[in-house]
Amino acid sequence: MSKYSDELTYGFAKAAAPPVRETRIGVCAAFCGTCGKLNENVKSGCAQLQSRKFSQSGGCQLMLAMGILSSLTNIVVIIHSPLGCCSGFGGIAGLLKTMRASKGKKEQEFVWIHTNMDQLDVVNGGTEKLRNAILHAEKHCHPEAIIIANGCVPGIIGDDIDSLASELEHQLSAKLVPVHCEGFKSRYVASGYDSAYHGVLRHLIEPIKKQDLIFPDEGLDALERWQKSRTVNIFNVGSNSNGDEVELSRLVSALGLIPRFLPLHASIEDLERISEAALNVSVCATHDDYLLGHLKERFGTPYIIDTLPIGIKNTNKWLRRIAEYFHLEDEAERLIRLENEQLLEALEPFKRVLEGKSVFVGGGETRILTTAEFFNSLGMKLLGVKAHNVDRFVEDILEETAGPELAIEVAAGQPAEELNILNKLRPDLYCGHMGANGWVARLGIPNLPLFGQSLNYMGYSGAFELARKAVKVLKNTNFVQNISANAQLPLRKEWFDSDVRENIKETESA
Ligand code: SF4
Repeated sequence: MSKYSDELTYGFAKAAAPPVRETRIGVCAAFCGTCGKLNENVKSGCAQLQSRKFSQSGGCQLMLAMGILSSLTNIVVIIHSPLGCCSGFGGIAGLLKTMRASKGKKEQEFVWIHTNMDQLDVVNGGTEKLRNAILHAEKHCHPEAIIIANGCVPGIIGDDIDSLASELEHQLSAKLVPVHCEGFKSRYVASGYDSAYHGVLRHLIEPIKKQDLIFPDEGLDALERWQKSRTVNIFNVGSNSNGDEVELSRLVSALGLIPRFLPLHASIEDLERISEAALNVSVCATHDDYLLGHLKERFGTPYIIDTLPIGIKNTNKWLRRIAEYFHLEDEAERLIRLENEQLLEALEPFKRVLEGKSVFVGGGETRILTTAEFFNSLGMKLLGVKAHNVDRFVEDILEETAGPELAIEVAAGQPAEELNILNKLRPDLYCGHMGANGWVARLGIPNLPLFGQSLNYMGYSGAFELARKAVKVLKNTNFVQNISANAQLPLRKEWFDSDVRENIKETESA
């Protein structure tokens, strides 16, 4: 178990809303400097206090919470807020369709209703509109669960969505799941994952009661016990593709274990059976430490939160941690040796192209550091990284992978800052989070996405694919050259000439 997850205590599930991450784990949302300095600041607690003088929009926890919950099977989402909070929902619907199709699951529409709160509701309260929306969803959609996402406005005026849910829950067949994901509560958008899982933990994880058989079947009982003793829950995240899941399944199955992916795209029954596993394994601490910690408290299921299985070194590490728990170290070493040998041979032609090329990686903290480590292992020169946030879960990877002098920016959103840095560093290749690459292309920097629902990034086959994609992007850079020549960035020369470190309050330069 990670030393960091050991230190954390959970037990928040009785409260209506989870604590925000600022208070629960401490987090840095604004930094610009070197990895060494950032690590010092994270350890001393100073990193949490930093902020910006000028800030662009930076995301909202409601969207992240909905990114998870919208994927559940046969649910309806009600957004209790003014309509603007739903502005990004078209994208969620698209992702849901792509993911379900790639998993071979039955097509499902993303059904969401909003309460469209207006000025009068701010004065009179919006719970009557919410009541009508819940009854409408039950009557017309017959879902297994109705997710109620609370936005800032009802959060500020104090609409009591929990009392309304308690009042209605015995009148409806659907389970009601209030989710407190008001954006104003946290600068750290990943608090949205905790908000989503808090709702899941409180309202959707009720183990199915086993009935005693009239004629007990010892053989069946033994089979169920054996299956549980070999089952590994792997906690997927929104950036997982089906290719990632297929690859991680292949590796875990090769150890003789039974992999099961949860909670994204799960059915309500899958969630009710979540405790029927020997081990819970994270692929990204940023997403699921809250859920795994509470599952251990409630069901006693041990968990592993370590690294993200991207690249050779981190996939090896991730596999070894699972094997260690089941005392399968020898089997894991045999598998790793075989996979590594084949992969290293296959990577040779790509290495010849990538060696000496410089790269910058931007996105979620664990993913960027593991991706950067992989590029580095191919002989590429790492110029810098940009993380949405940084917290204690990446302390050791930051030290191991990045080195004290590497440039790092910590910012959720804030493309102007990142473009300023990239314009100065001018890497040969940029690998970044969805949305950033369009801006980066205007600088004329070749780029590839950090993740994608139809691509494979994780495990050994993901490493091969990532290297192959990098080579492909660098082979012909005409596309970004044309974009750069014909599309301008909405930023002045004065901004590009300025030092972005001066935009951060309470850094070494403050
Ligand atoms: S920050 Fe508040 S108002 Fe804005 S989208 Fe998020 S929940 Fe809605």
